[in-house]
Amino acid sequence: MKILLADDDRVTRRLMESQLRRWGYKVMEAEDGEGALDILARPDGPRLAVLDWMMPKLDGAEVCRRLRAVGREDYVYVILLTSKNRKEDLAAGLEAGADDYVAKPFDHVELRARLRVGERMVGFSQGLLSANAMLRTLALTDELTGLLNHGAILARLREEHARTSRTGLPLGVLMVDIDHFKAVNDSLGHAAGDLVLKRVAGAIRAACRPYDVVGRYGGEEFLVLMPVTDGSHALAVAERIRDSVASAPVSEGDRELRVTISLGVSVLRGGAPSSPEGVLEAADRALYKAKNAGRDRVCSSGLDLHEAPDAGYDGSGPV
Ligand code: GH3
Ligand code: MG
Ligand code: MG
Repeated sequence: MKILLADDDRVTRRLMESQLRRWGYKVMEAEDGEGALDILARPDGPRLAVLDWMMPKLDGAEVCRRLRAVGREDYVYVILLTSKNRKEDLAAGLEAGADDYVAKPFDHVELRARLRVGERMVGFSQGLLSANAMLRTLALTDELTGLLNHGAILARLREEHARTSRTGLPLGVLMVDIDHFKAVNDSLGHAAGDLVLKRVAGAIRAACRPYDVVGRYGGEEFLVLMPVTDGSHALAVAERIRDSVASAPVSEGDRELRVTISLGVSVLRGGAPSSPEGVLEAADRALYKAKNAGRDRVCSSGLDLHEAPDAGYDGSGPV
């Protein structure tokens, strides 16, 4: 485990450093408070620190105060080294944000025991952080497909809309719906339906670029956001997705299920008056057009293309 040792006294530093190394720590050193703060501010900096109280530039207590003021998520456990033994000084150190203190000259057994407490606290804090990160991910993820869930994909749409308004770059939007999906559930059961949902989700994800955003918008509806993608490119991607689903039947037991999807395409253009709701409505209108025209196809709405507006797409354009 990495540890920061900050002390302006070279002799104390050398003595402590060799002791800390013997205990297995990877020691980083600073000779004043500013150096200590610099090291602790690094993203991969140590999470355990032993700071001398009396140091040039910033004293140990001030380092603690500034460290805590930043309020970073991953906790740094700080032990102050002090020759001060007046109770009010110790109280001031703890008040400044130190977690513990050890009197100089330090007692090896005591320092080691206190460092172990520090390690434990750092372990708790990191465990909490990763649990929080996991919960955050879970809160955004659709359990069945692993895609973004309804709330998360809408939040991304709002973000991408804001970006588009600022940069003027277009955002391609696809609304995707599985055709006659109710029939899959009704004839083969819910588990087969779930399998189809997973496969279609995987096919959509695989046909998109890594920075395209894919979410499960509703039961068997998906929403795809494609940054920096104009109408003709969005149509081409939609066609590629349609084709990849239509040409890969889902195996269920000894059965092969032919699955098709319908897609509605719209584009948010920077500069033009637009809203996230407006582009969703346009994509939805296009989807219903695709359904009414016989399913297993791509239609568009509100695109400013050379092709006839709101036309279907034959898949021959650029990808
Ligand atoms: P269309 O071609 O017009 O889209 O017809 P459809 O049958 O796909 O559309 P409809 O909206 O009538 O039916 C959607 C079905 O999706 C009904 C619902 O039970 C099913 N569904 C929604 N969520 C899930 C799910 O998580 N798992 C499974 N297995 N089915 C689901
Ligand atoms: Mg459907
Ligand atoms: Mg539907």
